[in-house]
Amino acid sequence: MAQLTESVANLIDQLARLPGIGRKSAERLAYHILRVHPSEALELADAIRRVRENVRYCGVCFNLAETDRCIICQDPKRDQSLLCVVEQPRDLMSLEASGTFRGLYHVLLGRIAPLDGMGPDQLTLDALVDRVRTGEFKEIIMATNPTVEGDGTALHISNLLADFPLEITRLARGITTGSILEFTNKEILADALSGRQKF
Ligand SMILES: [Zn+2]
Repeated sequence: MAQLTESVANLIDQLARLPGIGRKSAERLAYHILRVHPSEALELADAIRRVRENVRYCGVCFNLAETDRCIICQDPKRDQSLLCVVEQPRDLMSLEASGTFRGLYHVLLGRIAPLDGMGPDQLTLDALVDRVRTGEFKEIIMATNPTVEGDGTALHISNLLADFPLEITRLARGITTGSILEFTNKEILADALSGRQKF
C-alpha cells in the first residue's frame, strides 16, 4: 500500500475502525468517497460532525436528543404512569417501532456486566430512582435484554425499587433467551409488551 497518499490511507484507517467494516470494505468505501461528487462526500462528513455536535442524552430519560428533553419526554400524550426501562437508545427505538407502547422510557446506558467492568454505578440508576420517587408511575416494565447480564440488571433494579408502591413487570419471553432487542422484529416485540409478566 506504499502507493496510497497519506490522506487516503488515513481515511481507510478511520473507516476500518467502524464496527463490521473490515479492511477490504474500508478500501471500497474510501474509493467510493473519492469517486462521488465532492459535495456528496462532504455531506457525509457534515452529517457525522452534526450528529456529534448536536446529539446529547435527554436530561430526563437518557434517550438521544437534540435539546434538553427528547421528543418522547416532551410529548404530553405519553402515559405518565408507565415506565419502560431499556439498556440502550437503540432498544428504545426498537420498542417504539413496535408501535404499541405509549408510556415513558428510562435508558440505562448499559447493563451490569462485571466481566466488562460495568458496575451499577456506571448506569443511570440514581436518575431512575429519583424519577420513580417524584413521578406518578404505577408500573415499571423491565425491557433489558433477555441475557444473563440483562436479567441480572433487571433483578438489581427490581430490588432497588422494591419499596415503592408500584408493579414491576418484564417483557414476555416470546423473545428467545439470549436474543437482542434491537434485532427482534416488531411483531414479536409488540407481543412481548402486551404479554408482559409480573417480575
Ligand atoms: Zn427523554
